[in-house]
Amino acid sequence: PTPRSTAIVVGAGFSGLSAAKVLVESGLEDVLILEATDRIGGRIHKQEFGGVAVELGAGWIVGVGGREVNPVLEMVARSGLRTCLSDYSNARYNIYDRSGNIFPSGIAGDSYNKAVETAVQNLKCQTAAVRELIKVVEPSTTPKTPMELAIDFILHDFEMPEVEPLSTFLDFGERELMVIDMRGYEHLLHRLAGDFLSSSSEGKITDARLQLNKVVREIQHTRNGVTVATEDGCTYEANYLILSVSIGVLKSDLISFQPSLPTWKQEAIEDIDVTLYTKIFLKFPYSFWPSGPEKEFFIYAHERRGYYTFWQHMENAYPGSNILVVTLTNEESKRVENQSDEETRKEAMQVLKDMFGPNIPEATGILVPRWWTNRFQRCSYSNYPMIPNHELLQSIQAPIGRIFFTGEHTSARFSGYVHGAYLSGIDTAKAVLEEMKKKENEMLLIEPLL
Ligand code: FAD
Repeated sequence: PTPRSTAIVVGAGFSGLSAAKVLVESGLEDVLILEATDRIGGRIHKQEFGGVAVELGAGWIVGVGGREVNPVLEMVARSGLRTCLSDYSNARYNIYDRSGNIFPSGIAGDSYNKAVETAVQNLKCQTAAVRELIKVVEPSTTPKTPMELAIDFILHDFEMPEVEPLSTFLDFGERELMVIDMRGYEHLLHRLAGDFLSSSSEGKITDARLQLNKVVREIQHTRNGVTVATEDGCTYEANYLILSVSIGVLKSDLISFQPSLPTWKQEAIEDIDVTLYTKIFLKFPYSFWPSGPEKEFFIYAHERRGYYTFWQHMENAYPGSNILVVTLTNEESKRVENQSDEETRKEAMQVLKDMFGPNIPEATGILVPRWWTNRFQRCSYSNYPMIPNHELLQSIQAPIGRIFFTGEHTSARFSGYVHGAYLSGIDTAKAVLEEMKKKENEMLLIEPLL
């Protein structure tokens, strides 16, 4: 017979696990978690590379030092994970051109301030356009020179708070801590899982309520419950389902719904953009880049926006590791995902030679995460329009019958972030519990009439 549980949670990332924990701790002992991969963590994923632990996905606790304490920071403090402060603001003074010259700090600073001003101005125009329902106006100026393009990239991909303060920065502060611990950021998830799932003495989760390598392909839903079919031919039934897969997966055809999701839900899923964010790690026999506290981040100004623009050395995190990280986004991410790592290594080496001269050593190792081609992710995180769209968010959050949606993309205030995923899981589990109570009360009212 098909196993039946009160609730199935699809996905064992931060949101899925936090939802499952709330359900179990509220007395629903028979929760079943189905995870497609062979591990928990989802987009929090450490890997050993060049002798240290590097974070392929989330690496920072974003939102630290403000009036409220970021719940993820609390978990980090309790777990004893090692972190260090990241100060991106110096990057603007370490901008290299293609001949290896550093732009004088005055010029870089002025361009930076001008770019912030323009971005704020453009945002104001767009907000006004949306309010008055007129066509979005063209930006007053567009970045053109390699330096302007590099700054525009940094501003929009790394230093958003200077343009538009996000809830994360307003609530929790504008600082960012990088996790630098051999156990990885994912250690938080192992601890969270350990709170409600049984594990072996070596810390491996052995609880049958967590099923790994279970790729959900079909969700049938009726007024009375849901039936889930996995790729390996198994079926599972439940009264409720919490779906924590990424917005990228929802956009793909990995999971089919019977009956189909209503059109308004499908449209909302289509309307949310995704961001791709790719950290490429390069290992060297020795370091050749300037090091020290104000040199951790540096920028390469190229005529193609986002072409190997943003660099970080890992000496502050792991001294002597001789590792550089370069971050690519969106179209550049897709481009490198579709080529061999060797081609990417050669491109990155040419960029480094432009900046530091032809005599630098060759990289001996490269690691290129592929979030776009990974069918269980298809994105790095959701990208909501800068101007809040409450209707869109409500449509994304809204349950369809007994299917509840969770994950960073459903977070009203913190979409895109680890804390958004964590808090959304808690909220969704509470919504399910409320719905169950409502249904129970309805039954109590109906029963005497039967
Ligand atoms: P996920 O972690 O994606 O969990 C969903 C789970 O569902 C996955 O385990 C997946 O395998 C599983 N799944 C998918 N399809 C199926 C299926 N069909 N059947 C069963 N299971 C399935 N946030 C920060 O706060 N700070 C950062 O520095 C930061 N940097 C980032 C850098 C990168 C490169 C990326 C990718 C993300 C970054 N983020 C960062 C965002 C953060 O990682 C995410 O917001 C968060 O981890 C998402 O958690 P989630 O539970 O919503 O989704």
